[in-house]
Amino acid sequence: MHVVILGAPGSGKGTQSAEIIKQFSLKHLSTGDMLRAEIAAGTELGIAAQTVMDKGELVSDDIILGMVAEQLKNTDKGILFDGFPRTIAQAEGLDELLAEMGSQIAHVIELDVDKEEIIERMLARGRADDNEETIRNRLEVFETQTAPLIEYYHKQNKLSMVLGSGSVADIFARIQKVLSA
Ligand code: AMP
Repeated sequence: MHVVILGAPGSGKGTQSAEIIKQFSLKHLSTGDMLRAEIAAGTELGIAAQTVMDKGELVSDDIILGMVAEQLKNTDKGILFDGFPRTIAQAEGLDELLAEMGSQIAHVIELDVDKEEIIERMLARGRADDNEETIRNRLEVFETQTAPLIEYYHKQNKLSMVLGSGSVADIFARIQKVLSA
């Protein structure tokens, strides 16, 4: 079973992803984590990505799809996609990659959280790209480039909206219901 978790930055995708992969034995594929690993390793890709990430903008679809394709080659497990896809081009690319493997996405979880709560959470998190200006830009990028995916997956009948406020356990219980259906 392949699952996509969608939501604005700071909506709790990472926290819920950790619960989901444990409970449903999925492999966690976070393009943000992969990019941070490239930066830490000082690779050419990492150096190029860092400038873009520091501004809160999106790394190019080609680079992201290339990284994901590489990961898909090396796994036969169900995957939880976290922070990917972020654009319609990435979603179409992912559908194609999975179709080539005779597979497809089973569920898309959209974590719905109030904007004010998101800014509060992100400022508390204190990551390098979590200053107020970058946060604002990342939220704007989400609205313009990633929110259209909600419609994309809704049309495919794969989207479930889950209320993303409350305790971690409460939110996870809602997700569990969707994925167990
Ligand atoms: P995240 O950890 O998912 O919040 O990602 C942190 C940053 O990495 C984002 O603000 C983007 O600059 C970049 N990034 C992560 N995933 C993607 C993606 N699927 N497409 C483009 N850029 C990405």
